[in-house]
Amino acid sequence: MPANYDVIIIGAGAAGLMCAATAGYRGRRVLVIDHASKAGKKILMSGGGRCNFTNLNSTPSNFLSANPHFCISALKRYTPQHFLDLVERHGIEHEEKAAGQLFCRDSSKDIVNLLLTECEWAGAEVRLKTTVNKVEPLAEGFRLRTGSGPLECASLVIACGGLSIPTLGATGFGYDIARQFGLEVLPTRAGLVPFTLHPELKEQLAPLSGISCPVDVHCNGEHFREPMLVTHRGLSGPSMLQISSFWEPGDALAVDLLPGENAAEALMAQRKARPQSTVAHYLNQHLPKRFAQAFNDLNGWQGPLQGYKNSGIEQVAQTLNRWHIKPAGTEGYRTAEVTLGGVDTRQLSSRTMAVNDRPDLFFIGEVVDVTGHLGGHNFQWAWASGVAAGNEA
Ligand SMILES: Cc1cc2nc3c(=O)[nH]c(=O)nc-3n(C[C@H](O)[C@H](O)[C@H](O)COP(=O)(O)OP(=O)(O)OC[C@H]3O[C@@H](n4cnc5c(N)ncnc54)[C@H](O)[C@@H]3O)c2cc1C
Repeated sequence: MPANYDVIIIGAGAAGLMCAATAGYRGRRVLVIDHASKAGKKILMSGGGRCNFTNLNSTPSNFLSANPHFCISALKRYTPQHFLDLVERHGIEHEEKAAGQLFCRDSSKDIVNLLLTECEWAGAEVRLKTTVNKVEPLAEGFRLRTGSGPLECASLVIACGGLSIPTLGATGFGYDIARQFGLEVLPTRAGLVPFTLHPELKEQLAPLSGISCPVDVHCNGEHFREPMLVTHRGLSGPSMLQISSFWEPGDALAVDLLPGENAAEALMAQRKARPQSTVAHYLNQHLPKRFAQAFNDLNGWQGPLQGYKNSGIEQVAQTLNRWHIKPAGTEGYRTAEVTLGGVDTRQLSSRTMAVNDRPDLFFIGEVVDVTGHLGGHNFQWAWASGVAAGNEA
């Protein structure tokens, strides 16, 4: 005889555990299944080991989706303050790093422990190292064939996440289930991911490797004013991760190395005031020293400014305010923080996350076509969509 549950959730990550606790507190008999050996592996890795668990300034405009209004309802009903209250009830020390970005002071483990404790208090069972081989629809509910025997449930929640970082247990299983039930899965691609460079440019930029500087990067009508990091593999840092979610293969990035500064005007003023000074002098005042030097050498800017015509200064300024870089690609799912695309939200209820014509089947978290910007928004979506489904499943 299959074991019977009210709710089975596939995926013991951020969204699945939040959903399990919420449904458990409603008195539902809940089981969470995961094929991994540990719950919340991505949470443990997140935020450099200190989990950027929410963003106090999170709004629907921080999310990408083919259906941008879909996320509004869930995010409005479960806000960053709700999750912060939960963190504080568990006595977890936290700190705000950049504006609104809340991190654990000690370790991401605190968030996983919070979720597992909530599941325990709510009576939700978590079963790890369990594979699901098949999901069969019944007249009412579902039967699951798993590595540890058959299971049945009235409501099934898919919380399998996206494709990013396969070594942490990511699979396309959630998309397979969506297709099995006739849902459309929008094309997926890696987001919040470092860029790779063509060998020639990579070699040219090698002297800048390891240096971070604040930039304003533009692509496809979006821009992010945050630090850029040149690495031995390519371009990373918050600005590059952010813009990668908007970048399409073949696109160029326009990088403003001096955000807020009109380099042409500033260089002309400097030429007038100190004709013997150089572009390197100017760069030294505005960029990290090692970056300034290497960038100047890379561009071969030499001699005093008085030797530059206006057109020459404008060319230098163009490179500084609109440095065009054409990435070769991205590092892909191997290092991406998120997966863009996924289960088409037009087939889901924005209130409950249930499939419109199958109200006992739910999709939550990253498997759905809702992807946040960098900075705690993705976890906020996991919590909010998990709670929305947990209140209904
Ligand atoms: C390195 C890194 C750092 C990040 N840092 C942050 C951050 O600081 N702040 C932030 O907001 N976001 C961050 N993110 C993004 C965030 O981790 C995800 O958006 C979030 O975890 C998505 O939650 P989820 O529950 O939908 O999926 P996941 O947390 O990925 O959980 C999915 C679960 O499903 C399980 N699973 C998958 N396939 C199967 C299957 N076939 N059978 C059974 N179980 C299965 C997996 O083992 C996993 O436990 C980071 C991501 C990465 C990779």
